[in-house]
Amino acid sequence: MSQKTGIPAAPVFRKTGVQWYSVIVLLLALLLICGATMAAEQAVIPVSYELKVAIEPSQGKIDVHGKIIVPLDPGARTLQFGLHETFAISKLLVDGRSARFSLQPGDESPIFPATRKVVVKVPPSDTARKVRLEIEYSGRLKQIPEFGTFPDQKQALDDQINSRLVELANYSSWYPQFFVYGHPIETTLEVSLPQGWIAICSGKKTSEQAEGGRVVTRWSSARDTDILITATPNYKGAVTPLDDAQIAIYYTELPEAFIDRQSADIAQVIGVFTRGLGSASIPSGTIKLVFSPKRKGQGRAGIARPGMIVTSEGRMLEELAKDSKFSLLQDLAHEIAHFWWNFGAGQGDWINEAFAEYSSAVAVEQIVSEEQFHKVLDGYRNEVQQLPADAPSLAKVPFDGSGFVVRYYKGSLMLDSTRQTMGNHAFAEAAREFFQTYTGKSIGTPEFRKFWSQKLGDKSEIVNSWLDSPGGMPDSKHAAAKL
Ligand SMILES: [Zn+2]
Repeated sequence: MSQKTGIPAAPVFRKTGVQWYSVIVLLLALLLICGATMAAEQAVIPVSYELKVAIEPSQGKIDVHGKIIVPLDPGARTLQFGLHETFAISKLLVDGRSARFSLQPGDESPIFPATRKVVVKVPPSDTARKVRLEIEYSGRLKQIPEFGTFPDQKQALDDQINSRLVELANYSSWYPQFFVYGHPIETTLEVSLPQGWIAICSGKKTSEQAEGGRVVTRWSSARDTDILITATPNYKGAVTPLDDAQIAIYYTELPEAFIDRQSADIAQVIGVFTRGLGSASIPSGTIKLVFSPKRKGQGRAGIARPGMIVTSEGRMLEELAKDSKFSLLQDLAHEIAHFWWNFGAGQGDWINEAFAEYSSAVAVEQIVSEEQFHKVLDGYRNEVQQLPADAPSLAKVPFDGSGFVVRYYKGSLMLDSTRQTMGNHAFAEAAREFFQTYTGKSIGTPEFRKFWSQKLGDKSEIVNSWLDSPGGMPDSKHAAAKL
């Protein structure tokens, strides 16, 4: 199934066994309801990006020309953003005028290991406004090994540009970042690569042209959370059409039988979540799963952004060598769940992870078996019980790459405890309402606490004890009684 254009050459058709007709009726109804809300919220997208990106993989070089619309608070005298520390800025204009800027060290963070702060002077104004930033910069990414390359690795970064592959996400701050991860953004992207390279990026592909020995693709996304670029000279594609969307899987070396299994799993998982929560925003109408040919990299199914998952192909090949029946179902379900759960911002990012992880367990419950679901929960409980007594509470767990067990597993157990207290039906209804209420916004722990306390009424102590207890399982008899 090799290809030259980036358009999959040999579609693979799957029968999924999911009742797609019922899903469509539901989707249409929800689209009518959501359409009006989404139109009203278009104005709140905090940053819109128009980026032209030229990449020279063999030299490891990237050159970016950007026009970015950014909101500023009343009285703001500076505009600040994170940018990769080795990039050189050659041009910077604010509202068409050359602006002075200084470079400062970035905040120390294991997930953003090479970011520095750019502080731009802006003329003050008493009112909230939007400024137009024009910026040009270029350089080579700092060489930092992929996640999991060494034991006890201090610094890791999966973003890279080399003659084998390109992978870029917010981790390298390859584009100006004005907020912590989780705020909605609007993007249009043009990516120029040498002829023969195939790019798969965030959003919907709007055009592809050959120009002077290069291939230029354009992408747009009306509501996203990151700007991903993945590319190799040798992606193969497999497309599974669904009734109202399609699944596109890109890979270089993985066996086709494995790819076909992933298509079937994704279709089932999307059915489960859509029935439970309503339709998610998939900016391109295509669910893209990219097996980026990294050797190591972030584990499990990798990273998810609206409509796009990027997984390490090297890790998959390693797993398949150990077990040819290796299933990625729950890990993929976690990443797919982020198409829905992506509105917790900053410290509130744990909301995304707790819901995505618990949703993946629910997918196991519905697709595999209840027995397997209970095994998954036992696994979480085992990990949470081993947390040190001073592990941060969910309400305080920082967004810095630490606190995995708290954010994913303790968060999942809190949701399961809430479900047991409310009952399956009421919990499912409330989870749907929580998603529908906050999708497209940015929320934190206070909004979560308020919503679920109201749903639990006189049993709100349960959610509070889970949120505020440091260490492992909460002491509260309310929470403990349910476990
Ligand atoms: Zn996640």
